[in-house]
Amino acid sequence: MTASIEKNYSQTMEAFAEACKKAGRSPQEVKLIAVSKFFSAADIQQVYDRGQRFFGENRAQELMEKQPVLPKDIQWHFIGRLQRNKVKYIIDKAAMIHSVDSLELAREISRQALLKNVEMPVLIQVNLGGEETKAGFAAEELREGLAAIAALPGLAVQGLMTIGPYMADPEATRPLFRQMRALKEAAASWTIPGVDMRYLSMGMSHDYAVAIAEGADFVRVGSAIFGNRVYE
Ligand SMILES: *Cc1c(COP(=O)(O)O)cnc(C)c1O
Repeated sequence: MTASIEKNYSQTMEAFAEACKKAGRSPQEVKLIAVSKFFSAADIQQVYDRGQRFFGENRAQELMEKQPVLPKDIQWHFIGRLQRNKVKYIIDKAAMIHSVDSLELAREISRQALLKNVEMPVLIQVNLGGEETKAGFAAEELREGLAAIAALPGLAVQGLMTIGPYMADPEATRPLFRQMRALKEAAASWTIPGVDMRYLSMGMSHDYAVAIAEGADFVRVGSAIFGNRVYE
């Protein structure tokens, strides 16, 4: 188990470097988040020992359990659907929340950030495909949503995030990634006070190379590193 995680990690980092090179981007400007949901602190430590510092979790409970027992220089990225009543548990543990999918959630993040006296960097989740099972703002709602969220104290809007549909052929997701890039550029051009359109978070294990070529700044890679998750 352990040996295979280390091997998967080095192979992934090689493929990641290759994808950056092919896209004409420096591996320093694109950040790979190792998505460790469902995997133990011991598994995470293996990857940390290889130099990885960005990890992603999608459940408040897991982040609460893992953050205190792992090295303090890990940057934890919260990437999953976040219930409002869980914000208080992660507000001082996450380095960034990628999945702000409603104004109500943003209000709660703002409230908790003020209570803890922190400023939380957030990305706004976009649901371009209009998939019913996925959260996020539709493209038409984005401008209004950004303006309302950016006006809240205690959070810093730093970009957009999307979860693409799973396509057997990752090339099939390229048009959606391209649309996200265009949307990020449009959003930057709106010059909404408090909005800094720095980051685009998109791409997962099977399609991150395409996402990097289309402008991803964060890719979220789980199973390629840790193996398949066992859902119970
Ligand atoms: C689990 C998850 C990932 C990683 O998915 P893999 O296919 O295992 O790389 C990325 N983003 C989000 C939001 C996730 O929940």
